[in-house]
Amino acid sequence: MSRDNPLIWVEISKSALERNFQTFREIVGSEVELAPMVKSNAYGHGLELCAQVFCETGADYLAVNSVFEAEKIRAMGDKGKIYIAGYTPLDELQKVIELDCEFVVFNLETLEKLGKLEKSPPAPLYERGEKVKIHLKVETGTNRQGVQIGDIPKFLEKIKSLPNVELVGVAMHFADIEDTTNHDFAKQQLAEFEKIKAEIEQAGFQNLKFHAANSAATLLWDSTHFAICRTGIANYGMWPSDETFVSLAEERKKKIVLQPALTWKTKIAQIKKIQADESVGYGRAFTAEADMTIAILPVGYYDGFSRAYAEKGSVLIAGKRAKILGRVCMNILMVDVSDIPEAKLEDEVVLLGKSGDEEITAEEMAEWGGTINYEVTTRIRENILRKIVV
Ligand SMILES: *Cc1c(COP(=O)(O)O)cnc(C)c1O
Repeated sequence: MSRDNPLIWVEISKSALERNFQTFREIVGSEVELAPMVKSNAYGHGLELCAQVFCETGADYLAVNSVFEAEKIRAMGDKGKIYIAGYTPLDELQKVIELDCEFVVFNLETLEKLGKLEKSPPAPLYERGEKVKIHLKVETGTNRQGVQIGDIPKFLEKIKSLPNVELVGVAMHFADIEDTTNHDFAKQQLAEFEKIKAEIEQAGFQNLKFHAANSAATLLWDSTHFAICRTGIANYGMWPSDETFVSLAEERKKKIVLQPALTWKTKIAQIKKIQADESVGYGRAFTAEADMTIAILPVGYYDGFSRAYAEKGSVLIAGKRAKILGRVCMNILMVDVSDIPEAKLEDEVVLLGKSGDEEITAEEMAEWGGTINYEVTTRIRENILRKIVV
């Protein structure tokens, strides 16, 4: 949580995170484990800060992509369950064991290496007399990480042969559950997963935790919940997509409300008047048609405020919209405050979030930039201060 530029910060609403998490808890009930995803700096919301809130609110696991993220969580003093969903390099397997994490496996080389690791290094799980806990990722049609169905028996045999390794879970990931209101492919993947589940259980593996659901699946269908839900984006109050919102209205009777948790702010660095026909910024991309007042903001694409936002984008000052003028620079942005006469030096500016009755959502910014809400918030530069607010 190092802070480098006091002119840019992110406020995270604790009550919004708690409420979104509780919404998931109400949907899945008390039997299904919730593993909020805090990868990618908690979707830009601040890894440590969100990890702490989710733990206090009753998360069963924290899910991350990479070992370094697990390391940050352990450095906070957290001793809870961590699930690593991305690829763990062979030379970091020892570290993952020392960090006491569960992780996903989809390469035979990983199992080979696990078999060769020292059996009694000073790791908490060995002290507890436990084995290394792995989850098998299986391929059901996403063609991302995962073991091909035909290869599963080979993996199971290998796992059985390793005295220090315990298979505790089996995972899949949906390819097409949020990008469409047609859920045929998702249902096909689910049916495939059910088949795999039956086969693995028949092969003598009992009490495994099967898991498949991301936010969209968790919200839409109880049949995807299995033992664990790996919920990401919706914990932060963002919808996986408009399609998920639309589908949900059909699938569930109860209205589900998500509360965006993030507000991104900066301060005005200068205000000045320019005259008609003067241009603003690089490439002289904007020319004033009349005399106007502009504000200079100390934030740019280095900070995650994309150049692609320039054409359609605006910011909020005193509850009013101020349009972006010309191009977004690396560290600077110019906006039109002609209609906001009260704006003055070092006044607060909202880049994302609410100001008075106005709001700029991550979805709106995604539209400006031709991307998705996931990318908008994860792009907010990591070293910008995140602070918790009520
Ligand atoms: C990121 C991720 C999730 C969470 O997805 P959301 O759409 O953000 O809920 C779940 N599972 C895996 C494997 C992921 O990589």
